[in-house]
Amino acid sequence: MGEAYDAVIVGAGHNGLVVAGYLARAGRRVLVLERRDVVGGAAVTEELVPGFRFDSGAHRLGWLPDRIVSDLDLGRHGLRLLPSNPALVALQPGGEALALWRSPARTSAALRRFSPGAAERWSSFAGWLGRLARVLRRPEGGVMPWFDPFDEVRRRQDAERREWYDRMEARDAEECGQRDRLHRAAREEQVRQEQDEYESCQLANYNRAQIEAYNADMEQWARENQPHDDAPPPDPE
Ligand SMILES: Cc1cc2nc3c(=O)[nH]c(=O)nc-3n(C[C@H](O)[C@H](O)[C@H](O)COP(=O)(O)OP(=O)(O)OC[C@H]3O[C@@H](n4cnc5c(N)ncnc54)[C@H](O)[C@@H]3O)c2cc1C
Repeated sequence: MGEAYDAVIVGAGHNGLVVAGYLARAGRRVLVLERRDVVGGAAVTEELVPGFRFDSGAHRLGWLPDRIVSDLDLGRHGLRLLPSNPALVALQPGGEALALWRSPARTSAALRRFSPGAAERWSSFAGWLGRLARVLRRPEGGVMPWFDPFDEVRRRQDAERREWYDRMEARDAEECGQRDRLHRAAREEQVRQEQDEYESCQLANYNRAQIEAYNADMEQWARENQPHDDAPPPDPE
């Protein structure tokens, strides 16, 4: 006779694992069946090439409610969230890469090489997307009905996350500012050099014109003062 379970979960993707975790936490006997030899479903990191680990499906965290993190004590089980900036890098044929940064201004600058139109619209699109995400994440939005809006831990973590994003934005803006300042300084230097070259060229032309005018004067003087064969003989007195 086989063992008895209160619940059998087919598939050890992150959703199955969360459900199994809550059931186990509630004292149920749970069996999780997974056809692969790794758990995590599309959220796994696998060593596809010896020594190199890849996110073979999902590559970034879409949404993990803090409540699940604390309920299942995931930190103690080794969960560590590492923010990345750029948020996404799309490698292109020919060695190019498109990076999407957390700073819309920086992403816009990166997009410009590929699509000036997309670069133009990125900031407003990112703003719209951010507002949409905030609505979807609101507890009263009905996504997670059991979400406790007065959960102090969640609010603190949200505030920390917001603060972190603000810091990243500020740092990106600072980096962009520095780069702009460097570009401006380099451009000003280039303009200065071009101006110098132009002026020395003008000076050379001016000198050449002066010399030519001087030569012309000299030639004219020489013409006017050359001795003539038909000049009258010198006055004997
Ligand atoms: C290419 C791709 C990229 C994505 N990128 C992101 C991302 O960057 N960020 C993000 O948040 N989301 C991303 N998603 C979405 C995210 O991966 C899914 O929403 C999430 O994996 C769903 O989790 P799940 O537990 O429901 O199912 P899954 O992760 O699909 O897990 C299902 C599990 O069930 C197992 N299974 C299936 N059938 C059986 C069976 N008969 N017997 C035993 N085991 C079985 C499978 O092997 C698998 O382990 C991406 C999805 C795809 C396809």
